[in-house]
Amino acid sequence: MDLFEYQGKQYLARYGVPVPEGAVATTPAEAVERAARIGYPVVVKAQVQVGGRGKAGGVRVAAGPAEAQAHAQAILGMDIRGHTVRRVWVEQASDIARELYASFTLDRGAKAHLAMVSARGGVEIEQVAAEDPHAIARLPINPVVGLDEAEALGLAGDAGLGPPLRHDVASVLLGLYRCFVEGDADLVEVNPLVVTSGGRVLALDAKVTLDDNASFRHPEWEDFKQAEELDERDRRARELGLQYVGLDGFVGIIANGAGLAMSTCDVVNQVGGKPANFLDIGGGASAEVMANALSVITSDPSVRSVFVNVFGGITRGEEVGHGIVSALRHSRIKVPMVVRLDGTNAAEGLEVLREVESDMVVVSSSMMGAARLAVQLALAGGKR
Ligand code: GDP
Ligand code: MN
Repeated sequence: MDLFEYQGKQYLARYGVPVPEGAVATTPAEAVERAARIGYPVVVKAQVQVGGRGKAGGVRVAAGPAEAQAHAQAILGMDIRGHTVRRVWVEQASDIARELYASFTLDRGAKAHLAMVSARGGVEIEQVAAEDPHAIARLPINPVVGLDEAEALGLAGDAGLGPPLRHDVASVLLGLYRCFVEGDADLVEVNPLVVTSGGRVLALDAKVTLDDNASFRHPEWEDFKQAEELDERDRRARELGLQYVGLDGFVGIIANGAGLAMSTCDVVNQVGGKPANFLDIGGGASAEVMANALSVITSDPSVRSVFVNVFGGITRGEEVGHGIVSALRHSRIKVPMVVRLDGTNAAEGLEVLREVESDMVVVSSSMMGAARLAVQLALAGGKR
């Protein structure tokens, strides 16, 4: 689960990371009221789960109530790279002397935690990595051993920070790492980590991704879940208990098992297509689950063809067939569909499908052949 900046900051604060004082508002009047408590100047910040809010005009400093009102008015409802702003975070403005960068992530390949610190914060870290890779100090951390004070100091030093700043940054790094480990996060990224003109080190932005597998030991995550804003497709899939991943291509993918769904994506890419999403119907899916899956996939306007790829183990072919037939009967599916059915009761499933086979519902016996067809049909159909 990805947190909004304001949630991320509140989470960081639990682990002793210094953050500016602030409050959430959903209306301009509320923003002014919050600002009055905090004291001017304040920063009004769009709360959307996408970076580059500053550049998009979603982060503005207000010197007094008139400005706070105007900024909140302008930012609420704003569209930032496809995300509508429903809340702003109003916080005490900081007088920034330097902008740094700090993050902790999982390096799955190395089976280690990875810390990254840079004195070049405030800009996208990918850009720094491309232009000046040496400006990013990296430290792999053995998760069993953890990070100690000397290592945190060394890391801050490697990023080019001299004393006394190095000590303050190291102490913030220890807090961030504690949040990452004890807080069960997969990512804790602070960009910028600022040094104020008064010499304080503060997390001015926060990107925190929590590991959903650990939610059982974090009752406090309940509040975060309440505020979660899912894309319409994600929300419907979740309601229906389906595992759904939205992507940005044009072929909708339904498969049984995440592994097969992912290799189906690979095959679609391999033959020149781009997956619009993938949906895993899991093992032993019923006709109803299959029909729901189709309705979620085809509700996405970017889907121009659907590729159903099922290798039946516990999932039975005829259930898949009945699900497709029922979906075609009950909802108006306007895009072509290619079905590849193999494994348990595949023959029975194909028999069921016979009654709906047409230009719009094509059966293919191989995964590669089906992928080619799905891509061809999508490209031939153009936009709906
Ligand atoms: P992002 O653009 O989505 O990453 O949003 P950030 O929270 O990182 O803010 C973008 C930029 O706005 C920061 O890099 C700062 O330069 C600026 N900014 C944010 N808060 C403050 C503040 O309190 N004071 C000042 N002067 N600038 C700020
Ligand atoms: Mn930022």
